Amino acid sequence: MIELPFMAGRKVSVMGLGKSGTATARALIKSGAEVVAWDDGEAARAQAQAEGIAVADLRDQDLSRFDCLVWSPGIPHTFPKPHEVAEKARALGLEPVCDVELLARARPDARFAAITGTNGKSTTTTLLAHVLKNAGRSITVGGNLGRPALDLDALGGDGTYVLELSSYQLELCPSLKLDVGVLLNITPDHLSRHGGMDGYVAAKRRIFGMVRDGGTAVIGMDDEYCRAIHDELVAEGRLRVMPVSARNRVRQGVSAPAGVLYADCDGEGCAAIDLREVATLPGRHNWQNAAAVYAAARALSLSPGQIGTGLKTYPGLAHRQELVRVVDGISYVNDSKATNADAAEKALICYDAIYWIAGGLAKEGGIETLSPLFGRIRHAFLIGEAAEAFGKSLEGKVPFSQCGDLATALARAHDMASAEKIPGAVVLLSPACASWDQFKSFEHRGETFRQLVQALPAGKEARE
Ligand code: ADP
Repeated sequence: MIELPFMAGRKVSVMGLGKSGTATARALIKSGAEVVAWDDGEAARAQAQAEGIAVADLRDQDLSRFDCLVWSPGIPHTFPKPHEVAEKARALGLEPVCDVELLARARPDARFAAITGTNGKSTTTTLLAHVLKNAGRSITVGGNLGRPALDLDALGGDGTYVLELSSYQLELCPSLKLDVGVLLNITPDHLSRHGGMDGYVAAKRRIFGMVRDGGTAVIGMDDEYCRAIHDELVAEGRLRVMPVSARNRVRQGVSAPAGVLYADCDGEGCAAIDLREVATLPGRHNWQNAAAVYAAARALSLSPGQIGTGLKTYPGLAHRQELVRVVDGISYVNDSKATNADAAEKALICYDAIYWIAGGLAKEGGIETLSPLFGRIRHAFLIGEAAEAFGKSLEGKVPFSQCGDLATALARAHDMASAEKIPGAVVLLSPACASWDQFKSFEHRGETFRQLVQALPAGKEARE
């Protein structure tokens, strides 16, 4: 836990009592602050009260008596409409901040690397943390993923805090000073929370305003929004700019077109690293993530050899094309995090003979956009509420079965794949749907899949 001695005796309001809000309240109380917290959810309030956190509706409080308002990034405070409490606080000159701001104030001289982007944040953050740790560096990792900022280990002077930051967090931590900032990509997302695309791009761009003078900006070059930001940063000349791409070779940066990573940094080339051999980083999207990690790790003074070893030993992240088991040459892959067609596309593109388990709570747009990849699908096993609509999209193009639930779908996929014995076959859970019709979360869905796969009868097991 991060201690906050500078908050001793201060009066602090905490809005939101989820994981990060609760960790914040705990760290503040331990540091001697006087905390009043609120959450609209009754269960969260009851839980906080049970552990001694004072609870009161901040809408009814005289906010002028607080020295600080800590805001949970998940709660909208500006768009789609201003939140009453945030607005009142701002009128009093009390700017809401998030837990990352308190971490930054507690550790002004620490080394920080932060990662943002529309997609790939968690993979890139955990990959960078793995590469640094594997090279013997003292690190701690969290933020938007895993452990909240104030739950992280307090590191010594040589430590590096590796943070995943959402666009919401980036708006709420003005004191954070980064040694390396990574922006992977920008595609339209969360627009209502940012007042439209301009607001979303501006929120993401903030990451580079936080990089110290002479620090490093790592930026993905595979979308037009990021390319424009790259050009602005180069023109400004304040930061060392390292472009990365999984599509084209880039100069003064890192690229991985066709899955082979090349670095061209500071006039030094590096021996190519073949990412196609890294089973835990499948697909072009992961090559972009790996290129960004290479650039960030170089900026943090790791050698090319150390980075190469780290990339090759990445254990992977649960629920993102996670290889659960190989039985009789058939790979069972858990991609439960693919809650929309865009994310499922990233997985489908990686394999040639797919027994596809899909469906759940439908997202807008369905799976029509995946039709160029239908040829890779041997058979689709459909589950959940979206099954009927998915069946209509597949009709006449891909053979499919209505399976109802995940257990039935896996059993049938296993039977068919085992009978057909196609080399390189994959039973892939990549639902292109939210999970809430049949599961508590995408993690619950993925864990259920993993258990079902583990329970399949033994065959010839081979894991790469
Ligand atoms: P995030 O933390 O930003 O949600 P994750 O690393 O958890 O990202 O990956 C979630 C999904 O996003 C993956 O399953 C994959 O489909 C997709 N993805 C991952 N990296 C990228 C990338 N660099 N570009 C585009 N899509 C990506």
